[in-house]
Amino acid sequence: MGLREHKRHSAGVTRGPRWKTMRMKALDRDGWACVQCGERRRLEIDHVQPVRTHPELSYVLANLQTLCGRCHARKTRIEVGMGQPDPAREAWKSLLRSMQRNPNNGD
Ligand SMILES: [Zn+2]
Repeated sequence: MGLREHKRHSAGVTRGPRWKTMRMKALDRDGWACVQCGERRRLEIDHVQPVRTHPELSYVLANLQTLCGRCHARKTRIEVGMGQPDPAREAWKSLLRSMQRNPNNGD
C-alpha cells in the first residue's frame, strides 16, 4: 500500500458522518479543551494511534483525544520522526542533570 493510499484512508475517516459523531463525543469527554495545554480554541481531534498504522481504531473513542492546533502539530512532527528523543541528546541531558544535582555550594 502506497503513501497516497494511506492519506486517502485517513481523509475518508475524518470526512464521514460517523466521524462527526465521534468528534463530538471526544470533545464532550475532554470538556472542549486541549488535553495537553487546556486551550479552548482551534480544537482538533487527534488519533492517539494514527489511522495510518491503526485503521481499526479510527472510530474508537479511547483512541481519540482533543488537541489544539499547536499541540496537534507538535505530535504530528514527532510521529513523522522529528523531535524524537535521540540517545546522544538524552545522555547529554542526564549529564547536565547530574551536574545540577551536585552544585558548588562554596562551603
Ligand atoms: Zn494544546
